[in-house]
Amino acid sequence: MNDDIKRLHAYVRILKKELPAAYPVSINFVSKKISVKDDDCFAATWLDLKKKKFFIQISKSKCYRCMLDSLIHEYAHILDWSHLHDKSEEPEYHSSTWGVWYSKVYRFICREK
Ligand SMILES: [Zn+2]
Repeated sequence: MNDDIKRLHAYVRILKKELPAAYPVSINFVSKKISVKDDDCFAATWLDLKKKKFFIQISKSKCYRCMLDSLIHEYAHILDWSHLHDKSEEPEYHSSTWGVWYSKVYRFICREK
């Protein structure tokens, strides 16, 4: 594991402790691009309702700063999740409440630097 990934995992540990989600969170940094439906992207988040666990995947193909931005973005999706999302198993994308969580996670990370 390189130093960038170690630094990102340190943020993950702090986020899980200080801004806990409704369910446990598994975050992995992967070598490949991530396919979501018909598109390729560099990060994805989903909830497995059977396992009652959130999953985040972030591609290692981008720079450290891009991966940190992806972590903030995806973690905000998890914090924005509510039981209203149970039927779709996917949080609503980029709602106004997601924006509030994004700013909270961003400010939290800035304080930890
Ligand atoms: Zn998003």
